[in-house]
Amino acid sequence: MFESKNPQRTPISELGEFGLIDQLTKNTKINNANTALGIGDDAALVDQGTHYTAISTDLLVEGVHFDLSYVPLKHLGYKSVMVNLSDIYAMNGTAEHITVGIAVSNRFPVEALEEIYEGIHLACERYGVDLIGGDTTASKSGLLISITAVGRVEKDAAARRSGAQDNDLVVVSGDIGGAYMGLQILEREKQVYLENPEMQPELNGHEYILERQLKPEARKDIVELLKGLEVRPTSMIDISDGLSSEVLHLAKSSNMQFNIYENKIPIDPSIYSLCEEFNLNTTTVALSGGEDYELMFTIPISEHDKIKGNPNLTIIGYVKEGSGANLITRDEKVIELKAQGFKHHE
Ligand code: ADP
Ligand code: MG
Repeated sequence: MFESKNPQRTPISELGEFGLIDQLTKNTKINNANTALGIGDDAALVDQGTHYTAISTDLLVEGVHFDLSYVPLKHLGYKSVMVNLSDIYAMNGTAEHITVGIAVSNRFPVEALEEIYEGIHLACERYGVDLIGGDTTASKSGLLISITAVGRVEKDAAARRSGAQDNDLVVVSGDIGGAYMGLQILEREKQVYLENPEMQPELNGHEYILERQLKPEARKDIVELLKGLEVRPTSMIDISDGLSSEVLHLAKSSNMQFNIYENKIPIDPSIYSLCEEFNLNTTTVALSGGEDYELMFTIPISEHDKIKGNPNLTIIGYVKEGSGANLITRDEKVIELKAQGFKHHE
């Protein structure tokens, strides 16, 4: 009865996530002169005269973003905050406030929600952020958590996705691929358990990647490090969807071509043997895995000396005039990067 009168029915899958966002937001009008940056970056920027306010929202849905059969509730609360703070840090800003929206079915006792809030409070304390509001409602289909993070960005420090310049270096923090491999371990042990509930999950020795998946840390420290080094990124993004997809976002927003060296992508050593065990290619995992919550940014080549040798930062490529993104393989072949990684040609 309340269905739209528009008889056309386009399946969402036809557009994909980013296509859908574009479709829904193409007619968005800006009505306030202080909206300095709207849709299309990790966070929006509102001009406050002396500085920008950065605002970003993320929604986590049970069964889509997390599986409560192996995600501890406290970790879930912690991670929900990290996912959001990461988007504020990706603007080169400081996160200050969050609001938390939660929809929950009556399958959850009060104690379960209290555990989620323990994680949220811990994250707030560690990252110097205040929980200042939210909303709570019933849900018919499991648990949903939506967090909005608000931060402060100094005007001369703001790092948008669109600022990469010809000849810039491409840098990433930390290492990539761990979160995805952590998920593989958890999924494997879940299957083992479902087939034989007597079996104890075999998680020993995988602490690092499990933590990367279950309890990631947003890279506040990198924003502080860059400030200390007096390096201002020309562009920046957080790596939540996998390196490939994020490199393409920077390339598209900046109207530049990104070139990434396969042998420079920082991968934790423990991942190599695991990839063999799972019959996965480490580069594919790094490019398409996602959920690492590291920062990727570009800097002018003149800043190279300031970051050289820093153990938190790895130069993985360079920017050129042009479009799209390429992977320069170990045997020096040039392969065009696609959002979902690439096909490895031996
Ligand atoms: P991220 O991965 O950094 O969280 P997304 O890929 O989710 O970013 O979103 C890309 C851009 O689209 C962001 O600027 C985000 O605010 C905007 N966006 C996403 N969904 C919607 C929506 N339903 N309505 C308006 N803007 C949206
Ligand atoms: Mg982001």
